Amino acid sequence: MRGARHRPPFLLRVTTTILMLPVNEAQRIVLDRAVPRGATVCPLAHVRGRVLAVDLLADRDLPAFPKSMMDGIAVATGPAVQFTIVDEIPAGRMPTRAIKPGEAARIMTGACLPEGADTVVPVEECEFDRDHVTIRQSPRPGQHVQPVGREMRLGEVIVPAWTVLNPAAIGVLATVGCITPHVYPMPTLAVLTTGDEVVEPANRPGPVQLRNSNGPMLVVQAGPACTEVRYLGIAGDQSHELKAKISSGLSADVLVLSGGVSMGTRDLVPGVLQELEVESHFHKVAMKPGKPLFFGSRGNTLVFGLPGNPVSSFVGFELFVRPALRKLAGHRSPLPGSLRLPLAEPFRHRSDRPTYHPAHVAPAEVGESVRPLPWSGSPDLKGLVAANALAVLPAGEHEYRAGEVVTVIRLPE
Ligand code: AMP
Ligand code: MG
Repeated sequence: MRGARHRPPFLLRVTTTILMLPVNEAQRIVLDRAVPRGATVCPLAHVRGRVLAVDLLADRDLPAFPKSMMDGIAVATGPAVQFTIVDEIPAGRMPTRAIKPGEAARIMTGACLPEGADTVVPVEECEFDRDHVTIRQSPRPGQHVQPVGREMRLGEVIVPAWTVLNPAAIGVLATVGCITPHVYPMPTLAVLTTGDEVVEPANRPGPVQLRNSNGPMLVVQAGPACTEVRYLGIAGDQSHELKAKISSGLSADVLVLSGGVSMGTRDLVPGVLQELEVESHFHKVAMKPGKPLFFGSRGNTLVFGLPGNPVSSFVGFELFVRPALRKLAGHRSPLPGSLRLPLAEPFRHRSDRPTYHPAHVAPAEVGESVRPLPWSGSPDLKGLVAANALAVLPAGEHEYRAGEVVTVIRLPE
């Protein structure tokens, strides 16, 4: 157990509370500001992952006719086990005649039962002799028949509003002919990286420069959650340059900046945002990595200033930007789901802030277990490559035993 002896001293705790928001509190502030826009229509081919804005109703009974579930014969239930075959009914063809007692129609899967028949005997249980058929035992009424409206009834709500449209839901939309469903629009996003020391990956960095990993990373991180991701390039650490690029990014629903939000004399982003009338909602979160995280808004535009160290940018995106994008797109549970999993091996952790540690979840003897990965801190993006999760480790010092249960956030693939 994390004992009282690991609690930070009183003064540190007080300062921490005043200056740094707990992650869940900061997430609440973000989600309060992320209000979905009005519904739009979207072609079926592009609705995967979108949130349905209105209840979807069945436009007819389904099946619309008593439907055979097997290839076989359609007959009337009764003691008879011998029948004369009088018709053959393939799927999609209207039966042309009714069945009388002692008669049978060959019927295919998906075909409509003829009048007079109420049951189907599968072909495997039939013995055919030219236009006669014998069955081993008298069938149960309604066997292998899907009655009218078994799947859905005209006017019934078949997919409720707020459903996230997965492939099955898209199939259901198609079933009722809804080819342009009403969904919540996905947001547009702009990404701006900052830093005099950062050069684009195609360029050779000078002796005290490095290549821009955050720009390409954030663009693809956001991709599936947005209708458009606009990459604004790199702004140097000068007010005029930042101002011009940030201004252009403020036309998006969400603007994500990387770098320039800490306490250095060249961390100009918060000041420039203020000049551009972006209202600040918070600027520090009690988390590791990524403490100096800025969140503000101007009108409907949400602005995130993520710290420049790559893992800070990544984690800040997953904890705050992705939930905002999901909420804007109509998701009712926009926060990343967390689960409790046992550790695969012992692990020692020490930090003054709750830590989101790159981790790998894998099948274990029973269920799954989590293994914190070797990771040297916020600049160590390489340490995140094999991660499919973040282990959430509380502040303090703790020797975790193998099998001890920790909180885990799964990362999207
Ligand atoms: P900053 O948040 O601007 O103080 O940046 C913190 C550190 O993150 C810097 O020292 C850089 O080494 C690194 N960094 C900032 N921006 C990027 C970027 N776009 N790609 C890779 N590393 C970056
Ligand atoms: Mg910087």
